[in-house]
Amino acid sequence: MNGERLRIRGLVQGVGFRPTVWRLARALGLSGRVWNDAAGVVVELWGTRAARDAFVRELSRQAPPLARVDAVERCPLAGVSPEGFHIVPSRGGKVATGVPADAATCPDCLREVMDPADRRYRYPFTNCTHCGPRLSIVRAIPYDRANTSMDAFPMCPSCLAEYEDPADRRFHAQPNACPECGPRLWLEAPAGQVVDGVDPLEEAVARLLAGRILAVKGVGGIHLACRADDENAVAELRRRKGRDHKPFALMARDLEQVARYTVLDERAVQALSGRAAPIVVLPASGEPLAPSVAPGQTTLGFMLPYSPLHHLLMAALPVPLVMTSGNRSEQPQCVDNEEARRRLGGVADALLLHDREILTRLDDSVARPMAGRVRLLRRARGYAPEPLTLHPDLAGGPPTLAMGGALKSTFCLLEDGEAVLSQHLGDLEEAETWQEYQRMLDRYRRLYRFTPRRVAVDLHPDYLSTQLGRRLAESLSVPLIEVQHHHAHILACVAEHGRDPREPVLGVALDGLGMGGDGTLWGGEFLLVEGARFLRLVAFDPVPMPGGVQAVREPWRNTFAHLERALGWEKVRRDHPDLELVRWMEEQPLGLMRAMVHQGVNAPPASSAGRLFDAVAAALGLWRARAPYEGAGAMALESLAASATSTQGYPVAFADDRIHWKPMWRALLADLADGVSPSRIAARFHRGLADAVVETASELHAIHRPAAVALGGGVFQNKLLLEAVTEGLGSRGIQVLVPERVPMNDGGLALGQAVAAACADARD
Ligand code: ZN
Ligand code: ZN
Ligand code: FE
Repeated sequence: MNGERLRIRGLVQGVGFRPTVWRLARALGLSGRVWNDAAGVVVELWGTRAARDAFVRELSRQAPPLARVDAVERCPLAGVSPEGFHIVPSRGGKVATGVPADAATCPDCLREVMDPADRRYRYPFTNCTHCGPRLSIVRAIPYDRANTSMDAFPMCPSCLAEYEDPADRRFHAQPNACPECGPRLWLEAPAGQVVDGVDPLEEAVARLLAGRILAVKGVGGIHLACRADDENAVAELRRRKGRDHKPFALMARDLEQVARYTVLDERAVQALSGRAAPIVVLPASGEPLAPSVAPGQTTLGFMLPYSPLHHLLMAALPVPLVMTSGNRSEQPQCVDNEEARRRLGGVADALLLHDREILTRLDDSVARPMAGRVRLLRRARGYAPEPLTLHPDLAGGPPTLAMGGALKSTFCLLEDGEAVLSQHLGDLEEAETWQEYQRMLDRYRRLYRFTPRRVAVDLHPDYLSTQLGRRLAESLSVPLIEVQHHHAHILACVAEHGRDPREPVLGVALDGLGMGGDGTLWGGEFLLVEGARFLRLVAFDPVPMPGGVQAVREPWRNTFAHLERALGWEKVRRDHPDLELVRWMEEQPLGLMRAMVHQGVNAPPASSAGRLFDAVAAALGLWRARAPYEGAGAMALESLAASATSTQGYPVAFADDRIHWKPMWRALLADLADGVSPSRIAARFHRGLADAVVETASELHAIHRPAAVALGGGVFQNKLLLEAVTEGLGSRGIQVLVPERVPMNDGGLALGQAVAAACADARD
């Protein structure tokens, strides 16, 4: 009998790993012990060589669903074998600091919930070691029941027996519960009175079927739900939520139902039915749903049920539900019962609530199949706070806190080469979101016992996150590192691919707006990025934004500024006096615009791809007078272009390391005058922009010979543009890195900032 010690690294704590080890060792007749320590799981094994080899082989094969084994290190062990095999208490200092991400209901739990003979039949809070709420219910570490909102529910003897039995699927399942002892569900009227004498699920289904709007408390927040095929209900929900034009998310019963309304491929199927269960944005096709679900869009965002509560609701409904976050317009999603009564009372006809407290708001994550992969656009429930493993050379530096941006904000804790990126928090200009950002920063710092030794922020002095980072660095007396916005976008992409960020890459950042290194606004950038350093090689021609932030809200201002700069408004007016666009613009205060543009007063120049999209969209009459949210013009333009066949792109001009749009505007106006369809114009614009990007990047690649081209920035959420660029570069044999697990929009900024700060050290 020989012994050996195995060290197992990866996501192996809080996911049922030790019981798997225990079962496997016993099945193979091995003796020894297993425990958690700061670095993962340690196993001591005694037995024959053949049995130990079989153990290692089987371990990765039989690892529990939520585990991720990164490495197994084996070394010989002296000493005497214990009797049998045991799970022993954790050792070492910083044990079990991680918190797992919330996971969709597993097939075993679902079977129990649907089985009339099971004691958990129709119990909406069923879960096990392989599934259920995690981050959403955690208050403190270590992750055990006393530190979660499940501490309010002492386990009944049956649940406790499961919890204590290593052979049971619910061994150490912290949120374990049953109808005897666990949380309960009820339906209440907007005024707060509970609807008595009914099965709350059955009653909720009946009301949904009748076209009512319900607030439904789920895992990471409260949704507003209604039938997705009932235009009256959906339009009414839109009206009550208030001035929100964004497409609504949908929940379908199963994949078959999703396939009735969209085009589904293998990758999308995997993402939809995965443990994170994100919303997946898919091309709409087949049966129509209510027009107000996604006005003007050619895509639909579907998710599948991810808690027993959702499964039970959906199983009783013949149609998908709208499942949009429970809030009014831009506020964060409600999580608390009292808050829901206060804020959603006027929106929902009834509230389906429960008494399991949500301690961390987790919005539904959003992913989109693009350029061969399903790429995350919003990283929250199911993904956060799972750490990202970075290049090993980044493991040495001091703990770094990165504060992120202003929109779609997240923050990032970087330590020991692992980056913990917070869930999507949202727009910090929204007072409640800003409160929550600060609350979450405190929570994460406590959960990870994290004391930053330096703080990384965006260059923009007005971002609330920058200002807070500055104050934090001062109060902790640690260095503050300012990172240029697009530099951070590119490093986030490089880092998530596990590459050494100090290896030179050509970064192409197509974005809304970010503070540039020269004090102007950037957003159409070709950067040579080498760790903490970057060089701006080429950029879009900067165009003034008349009125500054006003120009984001009123896109026609960008159209005017672009046309004024490219051709001169007087010429446009002379050449095309009868164009609807020209006549519309003539009604606007153009004298004021011209004065701002030419005197440079309140008209900051911006080399922004996002504003270019706005300008072109507005020229076609899409969100011309007012944009409902940032990027609305680009989304509308993409939808429009999707219906046209690919055609010849508009020309651009290159001069002085700038891409100029004069030829494009001239051709676009001629198309408008010729009555060319808007969808064809939109397609020609996409094609021309992609060609210009590919051509520029290929030339720069040939000159600078970087290891790869890395893409970043919110404008790449455009599938048409992203695929045209990746295909164009790929066909020239250039390796392209595209963000996948971390959003290409500002949701990924914090990661890039943290990496820039880490490289600043590694350089010395
Ligand atoms: Zn389960
Ligand atoms: Zn129980
Ligand atoms: Fe950005």
